[in-house]
Amino acid sequence: MTESSLDSLEPLVSLCKRRGYIFQSSEIYGGLNGFWDYGPLGVELRRRIFDSWWSMMVERREDVVGMDASIINHPRVWEASGHVASFYDMMVDCRGCNRRFRLDHMIQDALDNDTLDAIFPDRDNSVPPAEGEVPTKCPACGGELTEPRQFGLMFETHVGAATDSKSIAYLRPETAQAIFVNFKNVQMSSRLKVPFGIAQVGKAFRNEVTPRNFTFRSREFEQMEMEFFVHPDEERKWFDYWVDARHEWYEHLGVNPDRLRRRDHGGDELAHYASYTTDVEYQFPFGWAELEGIANRGNFDLTQHGEHSGKDQAYFDPTRNEKYVPSVIETSAGLDRTLLTVLADAFAIDRVGEEERTVLRLAPHIAPRQVAVFPLSKKLAEPARKLTDDLQRRFHAIYDDSGSIGKRYRREDEVGTPYCVTFDFDSLEDGAATVRDRDTTDQERVALDSLPAYLDERIRK
Ligand code: ATP
Repeated sequence: MTESSLDSLEPLVSLCKRRGYIFQSSEIYGGLNGFWDYGPLGVELRRRIFDSWWSMMVERREDVVGMDASIINHPRVWEASGHVASFYDMMVDCRGCNRRFRLDHMIQDALDNDTLDAIFPDRDNSVPPAEGEVPTKCPACGGELTEPRQFGLMFETHVGAATDSKSIAYLRPETAQAIFVNFKNVQMSSRLKVPFGIAQVGKAFRNEVTPRNFTFRSREFEQMEMEFFVHPDEERKWFDYWVDARHEWYEHLGVNPDRLRRRDHGGDELAHYASYTTDVEYQFPFGWAELEGIANRGNFDLTQHGEHSGKDQAYFDPTRNEKYVPSVIETSAGLDRTLLTVLADAFAIDRVGEEERTVLRLAPHIAPRQVAVFPLSKKLAEPARKLTDDLQRRFHAIYDDSGSIGKRYRREDEVGTPYCVTFDFDSLEDGAATVRDRDTTDQERVALDSLPAYLDERIRK
């Protein structure tokens, strides 16, 4: 079987809409840029990715617990964290075509594509631009650019009846801060000892200058974050541990290891709170891009919240008989980006016999639909429905009796269902059905009473 994968996101975007994975938000009103809605299959895939993360990060560990904080926090949280003062991007507008660009992205794109001359016509482009150098020409139309301006990334709202400056609050731009603010609550109520972690999955909001690449850069998205509190002497050890563990998770989701890499941040890229950071990146059709950041945040956040709130955040370590503010190793992943990654990685077009097919080679344990049951004829509806009911106790299984068996296979291939089970007239006699494997298209006769165990072994992980 020769096979082709994605060279742009277009075919995936259209599959996602056609088959109910992802829709543009408010589409009938023309859509809202940077917002997306998950359809029937998308929501199942999200849940499975969430479950896999939660199982690895919380359920199967004794040193990490979960929490779920409110989306709107006290505005002083965002003053202490540094977001009010410094969470913005620099942007420029083109006076010719009115396009808006994020300054760092414009320069990076020009570096990647060797097109610095187009945006910096008046400098020697054999050396890369230094920090602070500002392009003068639009990369799209060659028009004049405005001076760079700050673009605040936090969405503002008002709490209560008044809409004055005192009532301003923010939709959280990350889930991490609510974990820091609850450090003492969680530590004392769970009686955990450092080293330990607190994990949280939830929505975050950023008014991105240029949302793009489908869901990759959205304005509303979901983060899966874990803050691991350690003694300052153990920062490096735990950082290396979490970089390995997090990288492995993407492989566990079935992502092609050749398309995954780690990238250490250079000194000029580091966030104000981080002393070192490594990103896990994926090679998308639009280039390598960040899926997750693993950062050593030191004791920056707990110290800031201690100072701003006046509540000491130091911890007494009974094992070391020492009082200190713990350092934090953060793992910060995006649920939507992970979902986009598994879909992009699974997308393939190949040939089965004479026919071309689109197939999503999703790992069976995260596939939104795991089994499809087909009666060969509508006359077999009753026993085939009963089989579906039985399988639904363990798997996400559906029943489908419309169209030829070949057509039903194609439909399931396109949404990534790993196993199709055909119930035929012989099944009434021999108590067996034909199981067809999505990836190999091989078919096997399996006894109905051993079918759940057969599927279980192949689907669970
Ligand atoms: P960038 O530099 O790309 O704007 P960032 O480095 O600021 O992103 P982090 O603050 O490290 O991103 O966010 C942690 C994770 O949250 C990212 O690795 C990503 O998976 C997810 N994430 C961040 N911003 C977005 C977004 N706009 N849309 C979707 N996911 C996002």
